[in-house]
Amino acid sequence: MPGNFMHVHRIEFGLPSGQTSEKTVELAEGLLGALRMNGQICGREWPIYTEESRCVAIVLAPEQESLDPKFHGEYVTRRIREGEALGITLAFTPVAEDCGGAEACSCHRSSGYVLFTNYLSLESPVRCLDCFLPVPLYRFPAMPSGEYYEVIRWQSDYQSCDRLQMNCAVLERAATRQLSDFRSSLSATGRENCRVLEGLLGKPFYYYLYRAHARSVKSERARRCPSCGQAWHLETPLHSLFHYQCDQCRLLSNLAWNLSP
Ligand SMILES: [Zn+2]
Ligand SMILES: [Zn+2]
Repeated sequence: MPGNFMHVHRIEFGLPSGQTSEKTVELAEGLLGALRMNGQICGREWPIYTEESRCVAIVLAPEQESLDPKFHGEYVTRRIREGEALGITLAFTPVAEDCGGAEACSCHRSSGYVLFTNYLSLESPVRCLDCFLPVPLYRFPAMPSGEYYEVIRWQSDYQSCDRLQMNCAVLERAATRQLSDFRSSLSATGRENCRVLEGLLGKPFYYYLYRAHARSVKSERARRCPSCGQAWHLETPLHSLFHYQCDQCRLLSNLAWNLSP
């Protein structure tokens, strides 16, 4: 499906005549931050350079249409107005599909979602429960912050823990506990985000609990939902990843990685 893969975009900020680039770069940084919190651009490393009478930023976005004004939220619109007031002109141009970039969900009506990311992911931390592809955040109603700050901050914390857990050198145990214990502060924040998004969308919104180690296949299969204590093992894993699902607590989990074939 064209236009549904991660896309490289070029954003041009035309300098007001006779001005240096300083104010324009400042505005560019502010606008890029707002676009990130609105899910319209991914990652946080954006080269910005000057070219003749303009500043240019190269960014990565979830889709070809990600920078369409129809997705601009309150804060993005405010930054654009600030630029207009300073005489800074703006142009958004999709450049090309990112080589190796991920595809976004294109389901017409997803039956539910899961909050899911890892230390390498640049994509939205919301996955469609039907196709398991990332869903750009700007497709959802804004969260209480007016953007998606809550979810993006959780993603940043999750990725920090996941990176420590992967590197196995510093705070490995503490980081693994944050990822896998449903009572950890990371899980509590993530589950609160799920609850808020479920309320906004009227669709089930699950939280994924990482599971690193277990003693035996037998005990692992008998594992119960850590929140309500009910049986939650699935005979057929969902998306070949989730072997556990509790509909009541909106939790998903995997079979311990040390037991995976
Ligand atoms: Zn989907
Ligand atoms: Zn439960």
